[in-house]
Amino acid sequence: MQRVFIASGISEARLVQQMLETAGVSVRLLNAHAAGGLGELPATETWPEVWVEREHQWAHACSLIRDYEYASDQTVDCRGCTESNPVTFEICWNCRESLPVVS
Ligand SMILES: [Zn+2]
Repeated sequence: MQRVFIASGISEARLVQQMLETAGVSVRLLNAHAAGGLGELPATETWPEVWVEREHQWAHACSLIRDYEYASDQTVDCRGCTESNPVTFEICWNCRESLPVVS
């Protein structure tokens, strides 16, 4: 496995996981349950990490994440649960409702 992304929180980690899996990339979330139990550890050690399971998919995952970071300041609100999603998403990361197309 190869790490492709360090998220600032579990919801961002889930966003990235969803995006990559939608694109056919097999990923694992590490430290997914660490948030909220920071204790004495430096915060960076408990940030959720997204790892690509198959190394040949790593470059693809990286380019998807570059697109995600580029678009991450543009969001669209889900009609189902009102969570905001990156405009590049076709379905809501939270409830899997289809998202409105933003042009
Ligand atoms: Zn939703």
